Amino acid sequence: MARLSLLIDVTKCSGCHNCFLACRDEFYGNDYTPYSAPQPLEGQFWMQIKEVERGTYPKPKLDYIPLPCLHCEEAPCVAAAADGAVYRRADGIVIIDPEKAKGQKDIVNSCPYRVIFWNKELEIPQKCTLCAHRLDEGEKQPRCVEACPTGALVFGDLDDPESEIAKLSASLDVEVYHPEYASLPTVKYVGIPKRFIAGEVVRRDVPGECAEGVKVTLEGGGVSLETLSDSYGDFEFDGLEKNTDYRVGVECDGYAPMIIEVSTQTDVDLGEIVLEPFD
Ligand code: SF4
Ligand code: SF4
Repeated sequence: MARLSLLIDVTKCSGCHNCFLACRDEFYGNDYTPYSAPQPLEGQFWMQIKEVERGTYPKPKLDYIPLPCLHCEEAPCVAAAADGAVYRRADGIVIIDPEKAKGQKDIVNSCPYRVIFWNKELEIPQKCTLCAHRLDEGEKQPRCVEACPTGALVFGDLDDPESEIAKLSASLDVEVYHPEYASLPTVKYVGIPKRFIAGEVVRRDVPGECAEGVKVTLEGGGVSLETLSDSYGDFEFDGLEKNTDYRVGVECDGYAPMIIEVSTQTDVDLGEIVLEPFD
């Protein structure tokens, strides 16, 4: 048995769209029956790059989440299709049969991740095939993986313990994108953006100078973290849970320690934290 899939490291994605363009180059106008009919010129994004904006000026962040079909083990698209028009291959790849799926527009709306697109001209639903036609011909990787310059996309067999994807999946903090959909995606992620708390430390008696090397701690949500302010006096804790209460502590010899209560309904920029010197 095999379970071919992708592991997507969001922290390595630069948003360059090379994977999207490689996918377009592979599938636009090309017929890979029985796995896919030609992709039309417009309206199809088999590899989407979702932009996620976090925080506000002066501490904004922009992350990119590559989103192909996630080749789910309990795929709603398989369940929604008549006549076995959507099926999982023995290697785990979910395929929409372009002939059997003709006219089955409901398949488009069955995917909670919104990665199926309707081809108006051919009247078929279409999506990422993980380049099944290439893999059948002995190619080692889908086009998107080949095209990625940063190593954000890792392809392989999850059931092969010697594969890179299996080793990374065992060693990294691997996550499911939108686990609430309960479709058991085989394509998983590392570094899905979460909440952050940031701030800038200054000293009351040293105006205009950044407070570098100040110890800042974070407690709450089951974590206990510590960092030092950088040469701009800035600090940041990222990867925090949403809607969770935290306590930020700031300690510096010769200054009164501070505790700040923070809740992560949103990302939080505490702004300037002014340390008061002991008399
Ligand atoms: S991500 Fe959507 S299209 Fe892909 S297998 Fe899961 S439900 Fe089907
Ligand atoms: S090619 Fe790689 S780095 Fe560029 S957008 Fe795609 S996943 Fe991100």
